[in-house]
Amino acid sequence: MKKIILVTGGNRGIGLGICKELAGQGHTVLLGSRTLDQGVSAASSLAGEIQVLKLDVTEEADIVRAVKYITDHHGQLDVLINNAGIISTGTGATFSEAREVKRVMETNFYGAWRVAQLMLPLLEKSREARIINMSSGMGALDDLDGGYAAYRMSKSALNALTILLANELRGKISVNAMCPGWVRTEMGGADASRSIEQGADTAVWLATAEKIPTGKFFRDRKVISW
Ligand code: NAP
Repeated sequence: MKKIILVTGGNRGIGLGICKELAGQGHTVLLGSRTLDQGVSAASSLAGEIQVLKLDVTEEADIVRAVKYITDHHGQLDVLINNAGIISTGTGATFSEAREVKRVMETNFYGAWRVAQLMLPLLEKSREARIINMSSGMGALDDLDGGYAAYRMSKSALNALTILLANELRGKISVNAMCPGWVRTEMGGADASRSIEQGADTAVWLATAEKIPTGKFFRDRKVISW
């Protein structure tokens, strides 16, 4: 079944990899990009049905405009992939500044939350809606060590949000989080162990598989610990 799928942060990295695969499978991909130029340029490298939306997840006006666009052109949204994210400085909790925590939370946590909230009426119009939150094993509660405190906390919070939404929306919309592994992108760096295609795989699977659970945390299509 052809789906209408919104990917935030779709202009590069894992997000672009997800857009490429989903458009290649014949879905309608709404590629969210913080800057329109970069989204348009990224989309020009892809085949399939891609529509670019200017969508900075920290800008309420952008989210509202995206909701209006999807309402006017599609009337519903089948899958929301909250992929946009930023990394924090490498410091641990002892040295992390509250300012840095707020900066990272604004995108990785509040951004994903607000996009999900405002897209909800459109998702509720789909017969089988899904929300996929791009989290990280670095936010898993049994792995809160090794620096990047602000980033880790933002992903732990995103995981908590995933569970809350999954419980509240049970029976209507499935909500899951996933970790892509360590991926060769601007964020992951050149030494990372995985290709963008490998990092994108679980998101593509969660978006398109016939039956998926809700309220789980995945890596490599398998449930992992929160
Ligand atoms: P990336 O190459 O740095 O790309 C990040 C994407 O997010 C870019 O498109 C960026 O847009 C976008 N973005 C950042 N802030 C945004 C905002 N306020 N509004 C909209 N878009 C915004 O990173 P990546 O490796 O592909 O990461 C994608 C996701 O996977 C992130 O959530 C990340 O935390 C997660 N993840 C990555 C790894 C890894 O090893 N790479 C591991 C675990 C989890 P601009 O181009 O405008 O900056």
